[in-house]
Amino acid sequence: MLKITLATGNRHKVEEINLIAKDYNIEFVLPEGEFNPVENGKNFIENAYIKALCASKIPSNTEFFLADDSGLCTKALNGEPGLKSARYAPTAPERIKKLLNAMSGIKDRTAEFVCAMVLVDKNGKILYQTEEKCQGKILEEERGNGGFGYDPIFFVNEKNKGMAELSALEKSKVSHRAKSLNNVLNWIKNEQIGRIS
Ligand code: IMP
Repeated sequence: MLKITLATGNRHKVEEINLIAKDYNIEFVLPEGEFNPVENGKNFIENAYIKALCASKIPSNTEFFLADDSGLCTKALNGEPGLKSARYAPTAPERIKKLLNAMSGIKDRTAEFVCAMVLVDKNGKILYQTEEKCQGKILEEERGNGGFGYDPIFFVNEKNKGMAELSALEKSKVSHRAKSLNNVLNWIKNEQIGRIS
């Protein structure tokens, strides 16, 4: 089995990513040491690279390091919370409340989840990068109990349901993260960097 370090401290991301990759012979694991990247990139790809590079510097038994930088962008608020999605307010419920307040009275609720992924080797060399989106709308109020972060207030156009109303398996087929990770997995398979099926 190919082991890849996932450059994150977010256990939800590890769970989602291992579920999306369940049919491949790959296990994504957390960094083995302290992981504190300074996410000061200008876009999602730059931040993903900063995280992947930071993880590649932590001694580990893995050869490859994958980072996911993601966020929620709204049309009416000029892309906010965007790159600041994780830092928009101190806790997930407060972030949801703040975004619902900011969107109060706004008719155009168009939004998208974005997920950039960068795969690097032990030397921090970029092997592959990709960015994908999941189109939807900001709901007027919370719906569903699944997922994490902003999921309860995101309506997924493709499924005609709230993201938090989807099962983990359903989310693993339509999310921004699923789309980006599938690009990465196809690249790994084609390049044969590990023995995955
Ligand atoms: P990151 O860990 O710096 O990439 O921050 C991503 C932040 O965006 C998370 O903390 C969430 O607030 C939000 N986010 C990213 N992906 C998702 C998702 O799939 N569902 C809900 N919120 C997400």
